[in-house]
Amino acid sequence: MHRRITGKLIIATHNPGKLAEMRELLAPHGVEAVSAGELGLPEPEETGSDFRSNAAIKAIAAAKAAKLPSFADDSGIVVDALDGAPGIYSARWAGPKKDFAAAMAQIERLLQERGATAPDRRRAHFVSALCVAWPDDHLEEVEARVDGTLVWPPRGTAGFGYDPMFLPEGHARTFGEMESIEKHGLPPLGLGLSHRARAFVKLAEICLEPR
Ligand code: IMP
Repeated sequence: MHRRITGKLIIATHNPGKLAEMRELLAPHGVEAVSAGELGLPEPEETGSDFRSNAAIKAIAAAKAAKLPSFADDSGIVVDALDGAPGIYSARWAGPKKDFAAAMAQIERLLQERGATAPDRRRAHFVSALCVAWPDDHLEEVEARVDGTLVWPPRGTAGFGYDPMFLPEGHARTFGEMESIEKHGLPPLGLGLSHRARAFVKLAEICLEPR
């Protein structure tokens, strides 16, 4: 049986970009979102071997610490020609300075080394795994992806992370060239394009009161 989220929900992320997005998505459902960062909850180590288990590790740690239902996501970019790298290590590739220009340059260098210059050799997808954990160990988990190709040089200054390099399938602009509402917004305002927006729609269906 799926369980609905009511009242307060801890957002177990210390990433301000993701927190802002999740707040935007949750607000219409009347869920009061409080971030783990604001509550000073510790960040657990992400020791899982896939997106889903890392989301669960973060959500469970916050639910136990705050004694409230807690939401976490794990996401990243998976590049086919790089055997799935950087994948769950997407954040780590940017290093402690969170230098995504360098992380994108590293992906490009590796693609060039493999002769991956044609768009069909440059396929990638973003993945978002979402998990809501309750203090009594109940879990709700969903996952979604958005497919696209990687362009070089990066284009646009919107978004974060690998956005300027990612051209979503069927579109002429990169995520870095799209407004937040286009990338993450749900219809009718946005296109519901991003991996997180798509995963969120799945989660909303099973866990949230209709808007
Ligand atoms: P984590 O989910 O906090 O472990 O980090 C995921 C990392 O993947 C982020 O720091 C970004 O580098 C990358 N990433 C995830 N979602 C997006 C996105 O929507 N746009 C650009 N980069 C993303």
